[in-house]
Amino acid sequence: LARNPGETEFHQAARELLDSLGPVVARHPEYTDAAIIRRVCEPERQIIFRVPWVDDAGQVQLNRGFRVEFNSALGPYKGGLRFHPSVYLGIVKFLGFEQIFKNALTGMPIGGGKGGSDFDPKGRSDAEIMRFCQSFMTELYRHIGEYTDVPAGDIGVGGREIGYLFGQYKRITNRYESGVLTGKGIGWGGSLVRTEATGYGTVYFANEILKARKSSFAGKTVVVSGSGNVAIYAAEKAAELGATVVACSDSSGYVVDEKGLDLDLLKEVKEVRRERLSAYAEARESARFVATGTGSSGSSGSPAGSVWDVPCDIALPCATQNELDGDHALALVRNGCTVVAEGANMPCTPAAVKVFADAGVAFAPGKAANAGGVATSALEMQQNASRDSWTFAHTEARLEEIMVGIHDRCLATADAYGAPGNYVAGANIAGFIQVADAMLALGVI
Ligand code: NDP
Repeated sequence: LARNPGETEFHQAARELLDSLGPVVARHPEYTDAAIIRRVCEPERQIIFRVPWVDDAGQVQLNRGFRVEFNSALGPYKGGLRFHPSVYLGIVKFLGFEQIFKNALTGMPIGGGKGGSDFDPKGRSDAEIMRFCQSFMTELYRHIGEYTDVPAGDIGVGGREIGYLFGQYKRITNRYESGVLTGKGIGWGGSLVRTEATGYGTVYFANEILKARKSSFAGKTVVVSGSGNVAIYAAEKAAELGATVVACSDSSGYVVDEKGLDLDLLKEVKEVRRERLSAYAEARESARFVATGTGSSGSSGSPAGSVWDVPCDIALPCATQNELDGDHALALVRNGCTVVAEGANMPCTPAAVKVFADAGVAFAPGKAANAGGVATSALEMQQNASRDSWTFAHTEARLEEIMVGIHDRCLATADAYGAPGNYVAGANIAGFIQVADAMLALGVI
């Protein structure tokens, strides 16, 4: 930790992994001999760069760009780009670190990396977004490539941004290298199901948990947080499986809609009009918007409460890191929630995870439950490499198969290492062993 002062989120993610590894180290002294844990915590390469761009008023703006190429033992670095004002090295490193083990769990040949910028896309015009993306790629292009490092989207980076980034990469390199970025548009190298994959995958994972408990989504009440890419498609799949999704949120507050979210309206507000969530409630009689005004989905102490005060059977946090704390978790448990699956990366604080464990709530960590996004990105890379495109049904079937596989592998590994039913231990141990064995095989590099 002393090597990386101030990188709070990275410390949290590293501790969370290391906490599970006691029995692994005891059984595998060769990992200690080869300093695998110390090496896996040190990124192979970290790039930080200046991103200057000109806004619509003609003013020069300046942001900072990051790409952390964390581990390539299993394949080219793979992980998204995040554009959000909170982005700094500690966040990019936490996300890149998680990505290593998540990608290993998918069983696909991809290493771990992550990047982004402290650029705030909110309120920026299309032309400003394009100029920013072009400037960002003007530096990033020299570090990436289909055999090197393959970025994708994350918070603040969706299909529009990937388009501008890909356009600039193509222009600078004079190569139509489809496999250099994933999350591309369907007409130009993208894969069907990529947009839906993370949210759908999270629900598939939760569905496996329910099945193992002889239960299902049918008739259940679900709360998701966030209302972006992951949240919308988690809500869609949960509703398709027969649940009623009664609430979602954004950084200004949350919506409660007892009749169940109208997903066409939600997509129209968030994806097409790019408006705040309050616009959803204005357009729908059965919905009410609760402003929290805290920059998060709400805190337990505030009079407005939080989205986690809305009673549910299943909670799917799909917004951002550390959005669900110990008090939120207690509220969920009090209201009868029995399953929590993380669509976002590290949305539950360690205190929340402990509350769930103590209360017997089934808890699926993001590195397992949200791996469907990156798995489908790897399917996009496969289609690009073979110059092919698969149908929606075929790609979705592959996604479901991968998620069921991850679920079963987590459970089997948890069992084998003396922590039956513990998805956190199962995911951490299974992901780590796969990476550690590859690192051992590749020698001290
Ligand atoms: P989007 O930008 O599409 O949506 C993010 C959503 O979360 C928005 O509704 C946003 O609200 C909300 N949000 C962001 N920051 C905060 C905050 N501080 N407090 C409250 N709400 C917040 O991003 P994604 O849906 O792609 O990503 C969501 C999460 O899922 C992230 O943790 C990401 O790392 C993770 N993830 C994403 C994958 C993907 O394929 N996209 C893959 C795997 C994980 P607002 O608009 O008000 O900011």
